[in-house]
Amino acid sequence: MRFIYDHDLHIHSHISSCSSDPAQTPESILAYAKKNGLTTICLTDHYWDERVAGPSSWYAPQNTPHIKEALPLPEAEGIRFLFGCETEMRADMTVGISRERFDELDFVIIPTTHMHMKEFTVPPAYAGKPEMLARLWAEKLDALLDMELPFEKIGLAHLTCSLIGGDDRALYEKTLSLITDAEAKRIFTRIAKKGAGVEINQFDFTFASGGKEDILRIYRIAKEAGCKFYLGSDSHHQKGFEKTKEIFERAITLLSLRENDKFRV
Ligand SMILES: [Zn+2]
Ligand SMILES: [Zn+2]
Repeated sequence: MRFIYDHDLHIHSHISSCSSDPAQTPESILAYAKKNGLTTICLTDHYWDERVAGPSSWYAPQNTPHIKEALPLPEAEGIRFLFGCETEMRADMTVGISRERFDELDFVIIPTTHMHMKEFTVPPAYAGKPEMLARLWAEKLDALLDMELPFEKIGLAHLTCSLIGGDDRALYEKTLSLITDAEAKRIFTRIAKKGAGVEINQFDFTFASGGKEDILRIYRIAKEAGCKFYLGSDSHHQKGFEKTKEIFERAITLLSLRENDKFRV
């Protein structure tokens, strides 16, 4: 059976610093779910747990009291509205959430590809060098998978995100091309074993920054390795919901995803 677009596990509200869109409320997010017949959605605002040292000045205010301003989430019959977060992974491999905090959240997205945040997420020796960034792509995932974490409630965000190259498309495309099949297979085999979800992010599948062949190659290797996938619109604004159906359906077709490839929280 074909993979059904019935969920969206990566959604920001206006309290994320990069949204600040007053229209992006939990109520309007719920309305998007109703309109598209979704049965599970998850709020994942940017987050750094105040129990973990070393946030950037951008992350520091986006702490637990801040993301909990969204609670209680509105309800609608037949829709599970989960409360989660999108945390961060520093250049030194520190993850921005404490182990105890996982119990308070339904789902935790961990991005390893926010490489536009300069020294905060990328060691200086790696910056601007595609072969080093391709190495960092794997090193971050290896470091994460070495940790003692509840991977059954963890999603790995946008693994082919254009932020890998910052605003440099050529750097992004080159870096993706340098992630070898063997390395991708090794990493995705580890991810499949740990049981973390692999995100199909709508922005990765617009192919607007190029790299289409490599993007598809990487997720096809993930599928072959037995990874489970979830859809994430990563919407920060209402506009981010306009093309989700079209983009996700195309991604599902391109990757030939089936229902049993689905990650379930
Ligand atoms: Zn992100
Ligand atoms: Zn996001």
